[in-house]
Amino acid sequence: MKIVVLGAGIGGLSVACRLSSLGHNVVVVEKNNSPGGKASVVKFNGYTFDAGPSLFTYPEWLDDVFVFCNKNPRDYYTYKKLNLVTRYFFNDKSYFDVFDDVNKTAKSIEAVSNFPSSKFLKLINHWQLVYQLSEETFLSGKIKFNLPFIKASMKWFLKSGFYSIFTSMAIYNKKVINNNKVELLFNRFATYTGSSPYKTPAFMNQLSVVELCKGAYYPDNGIYSIPKSLEKLAVDMGVDIRYNNQVRAISKENDSWLIKTSKSHFSADIVVSNIDYCFTRKLMGEQFNLPTSKLSTSGIVFYWGVSKTFKDLKLHNVFFSDDYQKEFSQIIDDVIFPDKPTVYVNVSSKIDSHHAKNNCENWFVMVNVPSSLELTSKKSVTKLRDAVINLLSVKLNESIKELIECERILTPNTLSDDTGAYKGSIYGVNQNSLFKIMNRKDNKDKFDKGLYYVGGTVHPGGGIPLALLSSKNTVNQIIKDY
Ligand SMILES: Cc1cc2nc3c(=O)[nH]c(=O)nc-3n(C[C@H](O)[C@H](O)[C@H](O)COP(=O)(O)OP(=O)(O)OC[C@H]3O[C@@H](n4cnc5c(N)ncnc54)[C@H](O)[C@@H]3O)c2cc1C
Repeated sequence: MKIVVLGAGIGGLSVACRLSSLGHNVVVVEKNNSPGGKASVVKFNGYTFDAGPSLFTYPEWLDDVFVFCNKNPRDYYTYKKLNLVTRYFFNDKSYFDVFDDVNKTAKSIEAVSNFPSSKFLKLINHWQLVYQLSEETFLSGKIKFNLPFIKASMKWFLKSGFYSIFTSMAIYNKKVINNNKVELLFNRFATYTGSSPYKTPAFMNQLSVVELCKGAYYPDNGIYSIPKSLEKLAVDMGVDIRYNNQVRAISKENDSWLIKTSKSHFSADIVVSNIDYCFTRKLMGEQFNLPTSKLSTSGIVFYWGVSKTFKDLKLHNVFFSDDYQKEFSQIIDDVIFPDKPTVYVNVSSKIDSHHAKNNCENWFVMVNVPSSLELTSKKSVTKLRDAVINLLSVKLNESIKELIECERILTPNTLSDDTGAYKGSIYGVNQNSLFKIMNRKDNKDKFDKGLYYVGGTVHPGGGIPLALLSSKNTVNQIIKDY
């Protein structure tokens, strides 16, 4: 079969490798001059930053792509497990750490929050059981409302509990946890799907299992080594990658797909789009306008070269805002930038020292904002930047402003321009209700034969691990169909 994959993001490259290893003739068409999409790299003034993702989980799902292609993943990329995963900073300047050992984490949390470690372990054990069932039921393959699915769902409902389905994560956590710091920790995991803890159902607490139990990893040389390793695998598998080819239109004539790009045109028996689902539909000529309220959040990222090292900062750091509820009400209901944001700081030079100059650090500083192209202006970004600098200066007891020696900024607009993220949304449609979670776009088009979707905006969800899983699901579907 002749297959054209649109986009060389992590989902696109991994689907291309898998399909090529099955003997198909695969071409990848990518608008940029390098792979990775959201997971690309930013380099300036002696600093290197991973542009988007920084938290790497489930390396076994990445390894699986190489194993599927009969290659040894260790010949392509290497990684280490993090001993200390994330440091969480609170208003009163206290912090606790999440470790690779859940018992150690429970103790670290108890020491700072007075939340009994036994209660924490019981809670996480509950979500682990729910997560296990979800992985078996919802993540692999497509959601089909047949008898096995209904049976599995019933088992899942009984384990998760009906209360967790019809209550928001934040309300549930207030009732069950009733400890401000620990509630914040759990509520934070809603944002890993670009959703709000005040809207998303409480069973999404299961996402906490990924970071708290399964652990986090760091690919040597940073996240960008992931798309680079997939690009190398693709070349080894004989995939033809065409960079600098922006897809302008997707159409079908008889049984053949036609892809018109800025440079050329391609025909194919099968098309797999790794371009954001909404943009793919627009390229097919559909009038498509999803409001911000339906989309996952976007982000503003400040890439800062900082002329000092901070021993209190680790690889992953979260600084909670004064008022988490107000922050989400501003982002989701008022559709404005939050005035006092929660700030995530990633410092990869803590591990890869060559990512910063001597005695300096590369700060990737991110805040959640609505997915909208209308909010970004010099004034709004400066206001947000001031709020971030203020918060970090207070929490770190240091005037940060003077330490920023160089800067680049990612906005919803640049994310949209650079990667095709619809209105800058990171994960496509949000997961702020059970309906939206169950109705995430399938990997196979409902109507058009030979059209498939892969990546973080379709089933099973956003983030590197799920984009990788979607490549597996998509290929299984293609094998079934052809
Ligand atoms: C700021 C930020 C932080 C994140 N943090 C994390 C994290 O910590 N952990 C995590 O697991 N995930 C994180 N993510 C999400 C993660 O980056 C993605 O879910 C993941 O990279 C999967 O991407 P994808 O396969 O959907 O492809 P994408 O990265 O969306 O790639 C799509 C590709 O299609 C190309 N394209 C678009 N339009 C066209 C066109 N018209 N013609 C040709 N090519 C086109 C793009 O250039 C791009 O290369 C983050 C993302 C961002 C932006």
